Amino acid sequence: MKNIIIFGAPGSGKGTYSAEIKKRYGMGHISTGDVLRAEIKNNTDLGKLAKGYIDQGQLIPDQLMIDILAVQYDSHPQGCGVIFDGFPRTIAQAEALKKMLAERGHTLGMMIELIVGEDILMERLLRRAVLEGREDDNEETIRKRFAVYHSQTEPLSKWFEQEGIRHTFSWDICKTKEGMLEAIFAEIEKENK
Ligand code: AMP
Repeated sequence: MKNIIIFGAPGSGKGTYSAEIKKRYGMGHISTGDVLRAEIKNNTDLGKLAKGYIDQGQLIPDQLMIDILAVQYDSHPQGCGVIFDGFPRTIAQAEALKKMLAERGHTLGMMIELIVGEDILMERLLRRAVLEGREDDNEETIRKRFAVYHSQTEPLSKWFEQEGIRHTFSWDICKTKEGMLEAIFAEIEKENK
């Protein structure tokens, strides 16, 4: 299986769709947000550092994230493909990922971009705050995360387009989770033919 980068704003469903893709194709899954939250829970040095950024809705510095990602990637079996969920979030991270994969004889694979309107994103994140109790899912921090997404992460969409691997899926068109999944699975299968 080709590697998959799942890309989109906070609340666009990266974690949800990654879990479904993983279940269907038996791929590896790296969620950098989950990795950081586990470090925070275990009160490690990395966790303490990460918490300061996450609570402010800011990104963790690139080099730190790139180092974490390489360790995570190497812990997965080769050949099954890995879903990158929440990474890369900056152009520097994307360039580093491409280089890290090339050094291992691998490629970026395909990028799946989830496009969802901001009103729906806010509604979902506030609901998640109640269900999961994530501290960064409060309205003030969500607004900061949207701003960081627009300024630092969204420009990457074009970067992936230039790499020729960007595939977009719009909530406005698919309308339901099932509709999104059907479109995503069809595209993954086309790419892996
Ligand atoms: P997520 O669960 O993907 O929404 O990530 C939650 C938070 O973790 C983000 O708001 C960032 O503070 C941090 N984070 C996760 N992934 C990255 C990344 N690739 N680069 C920088 N910060 C990240």
